[in-house]
Amino acid sequence: MAHHSIGDVGDGKLGSWGYPEGGMGAVSDQIRASAVESGATVRTDARVEHLLITRGKVTGAVLAGGEEVLAPIVVSAMHPQTTFLKHIDSGDLPPEFVADIKRWRSRSGVVKINLALAELPNFTADPGSNQQEHHTGSVEMAPSVEWIEEAFQEARQGRPATRPFSDSVIPTTFDRTLCPEGTHIMSLFTQWVPHEWADAPHLEDLEAYADRMIDCYAEFAPNIKGAILHRDIIGPYQMEQEYGLIGGNIFHGELSAEQLFHMRPAPGYADYRTPIRGLYQASSATHGGGGVCGIPGRQAARAVLHDRRNARWSRRTQ
Ligand SMILES: Cc1cc2nc3c(=O)[nH]c(=O)nc-3n(C[C@H](O)[C@H](O)[C@H](O)COP(=O)(O)OP(=O)(O)OC[C@H]3O[C@@H](n4cnc5c(N)ncnc54)[C@H](O)[C@@H]3O)c2cc1C
Repeated sequence: MAHHSIGDVGDGKLGSWGYPEGGMGAVSDQIRASAVESGATVRTDARVEHLLITRGKVTGAVLAGGEEVLAPIVVSAMHPQTTFLKHIDSGDLPPEFVADIKRWRSRSGVVKINLALAELPNFTADPGSNQQEHHTGSVEMAPSVEWIEEAFQEARQGRPATRPFSDSVIPTTFDRTLCPEGTHIMSLFTQWVPHEWADAPHLEDLEAYADRMIDCYAEFAPNIKGAILHRDIIGPYQMEQEYGLIGGNIFHGELSAEQLFHMRPAPGYADYRTPIRGLYQASSATHGGGGVCGIPGRQAARAVLHDRRNARWSRRTQ
């Protein structure tokens, strides 16, 4: 909740959130277009299997299928346990750094539910399924602190919440590019299920959890169930398998006090550099992440430019 309250979208108002027109894909498209304009080649479907390291310096990456891409500088935005434990031999890293990355906590009890709706929710407290101001803000399902606490305690005890807590939005009240006229998308960020659900698909349990979540909204907006055209349920297992988010943690690692600031992702390596020369990190597990904020990427780029300038300077002065 603190993380959600400290961000701003550049207008100086803390705690506000923005919707990119065209959805998150539009953000990636813009980044790609900008990179291509600057001369970059963007390759997708090019899974990295291993990083090439010679005498403590990165020299490139090996892709699935065996292709080697040589490069003097590599910036990884993958989960740190993928970069450092899967793609690099532990013998190339200091043992204490390997121990820190192994200890990195990346659990999650979040389930994302996306609803395609034939009409907007008609709230009994403020009736009407025509678009009104309250549809454009966050539609929280958090009637009391006890409600939230109970949902959390159930998950701690290994059970999915009976009455989950949800932070939801209806981006289509602003962005009509996302779905056909008259229909809407409601995006529910819900909590909690046990973090152990990252180990197995739990498909039936997730369906039942989503049913209970929607029942909660139906108490306040009775038309919601009948308005659902389609639903998409993404639990911790699906996030790990499909997006590479270990444990289903959307920020590549928990935002707990011992994993912030100079500890993100490991003491001594919160400056976007790594124990390997030429290898930088820009993942959400670095300082400033997570979220779609661009901070880790920008900071990693600055670290690369700074080191290149220094290297040129020391060559000139030798
Ligand atoms: C369901 C959900 C809802 C969210 N909601 C919000 C929100 O409302 N607002 C917000 O600000 N943030 C939100 N986030 C968090 C936000 O999406 C992340 O913090 C952000 O995308 C992280 O960016 P990143 O570049 O660090 O990593 P990622 O976006 O995870 O990018 C890492 C990339 O590395 C790729 N990759 C992984 N392994 C390999 C490999 N071996 N070889 C090559 N490529 C690889 C992955 O495919 C991925 O494209 C949400 C996340 C999720 C999952």
